[in-house]
Amino acid sequence: MTNMENTRENRNRANDYVHEVYELVKKRNPDEKEFLQATREIFDSLRPVFAKHPEYIRNGILERITEPERIISFRVAWEDDKGKVHVNRGFRVQFNSDLGPYKGGIRFHPSVNNSIMKFLAFEQIFKNALTGQPIGAGKGGSDFDPKGKSEREIMRFTQSFMTELSKHIGPDIDVPAGDIGVGKREIGYMFGQYNRLKGGYEAGVLTGKDPKHGGSLGRKEATGYGTVYFVEEMLNENGLSFKDSTVVVSGSGNVSTYAIEKAQQLGAKVVACSDSGGYIYDKNGIDLETVKRLKEVENKRIWEYTKEHPDAEYHEDCSAIWSIPCDIALPCATQNEIDEIAAHMLIANGLQALGEGANMPCNIEAIEIFLENKVLFAPAKAANAGGVAVSAMEMSQNSMRLGWTEEEVDMRLKTVMENIYASCKDAAERFGKPGNLVMGANIAGFLRVADTMVAHGIR
Ligand code: NDP
Repeated sequence: MTNMENTRENRNRANDYVHEVYELVKKRNPDEKEFLQATREIFDSLRPVFAKHPEYIRNGILERITEPERIISFRVAWEDDKGKVHVNRGFRVQFNSDLGPYKGGIRFHPSVNNSIMKFLAFEQIFKNALTGQPIGAGKGGSDFDPKGKSEREIMRFTQSFMTELSKHIGPDIDVPAGDIGVGKREIGYMFGQYNRLKGGYEAGVLTGKDPKHGGSLGRKEATGYGTVYFVEEMLNENGLSFKDSTVVVSGSGNVSTYAIEKAQQLGAKVVACSDSGGYIYDKNGIDLETVKRLKEVENKRIWEYTKEHPDAEYHEDCSAIWSIPCDIALPCATQNEIDEIAAHMLIANGLQALGEGANMPCNIEAIEIFLENKVLFAPAKAANAGGVAVSAMEMSQNSMRLGWTEEEVDMRLKTVMENIYASCKDAAERFGKPGNLVMGANIAGFLRVADTMVAHGIR
């Protein structure tokens, strides 16, 4: 048999394997559209890997990596300020622990369901692997809606949530952090309740804590800053930069705020941001201090920005933010915010680069359109890994019982993002798709986990 035939045979075997396992995943999870979307995107990238590494087929890596090690679903009962009882559903998906304790955020949002939890935990496997740190993958949350709830209601809900979750987590088992609707306040209540139940003080059980109360400096900024560091690497490689570019950022939460801050520090003009009600456009460039005060301190809606900046416009349809012409787009709000229509609009308006700050903000069709049109594309798994990377640094600081300075954390974050960029670029080149960072990220993350899964045996 010639080498070529051998290669063709391997390629066919790899395609059959990927197809077979995808059909199995579809059959087993028929109604989980976000989870199926995330698995399909990964599977498409991995064909050349299986052609080169038949040992992964022999070890059933794809069958195993798509089935969570454990899913915990539980009742969260709590009482509102008027004494009415409410019941929400809590989740923790402990997807993969080959590289370390399960690690991933907690989301409080009415849209939370099994499929969204599983897609987020699945993505986390590859993201956490890319950071190079010893962390496995998980995700959790609840369909609880924090909007309009009083401080005490948030506390009672969060304590009830942790009362059950505490049975399943621990500094060497599973270390949750924040995500949509969960910031340092909610982490603080969860941390207090966990330690109350355990009768001690386990500093490393949660990350994203307030730096005044055991958290890491630089964690709050890490995802947004990290996304911009990654995109800046990608731009520089192609003779471009944030300097003097026009940028649109969706959302106005944790990731968006610090993506805006870092982009502005690098000389960009950020002209728009949003919340789930609508978007603001400020042709003079967004005044970030106003956004921070409205969102972080006063808990207000983004339209109120226009009260203080009369030149700015507010539009109610938040998805129309992608009709604003820009050089760089940073979707930092939520999943599937950019579809084919938005992708075409951005390209027609001159888009050069896109960095996914949120998890899976572009659907599969939109990603294909960006790649076909040579838009520089930074995929979420790689671009937004800065948050979890600094969470892992928080775990290290908690274990050592010391705290690094903000400068030290930021320096380490920048290095991690540069390394992630280099490994995605390298994997894309090695597997025949130079410049395709979607494939590069999926492959580089996958290889690290797959090798460890082989080493740990079938389980
Ligand atoms: P936040 O809750 O702090 O902010 C979310 C922001 O997105 C809010 O401004 C929210 O508006 C807005 N938003 C939500 N839904 C929509 C929508 N359909 N259209 C427009 N805006 C919307 O969450 P984070 O910033 O923490 O998370 C944002 C994304 O980044 C998520 O995909 C998350 O999984 C991902 N991520 C977060 C990390 C972190 O460290 N926090 C780490 C890695 C990824 P409103 O206030 O109206 O709801």
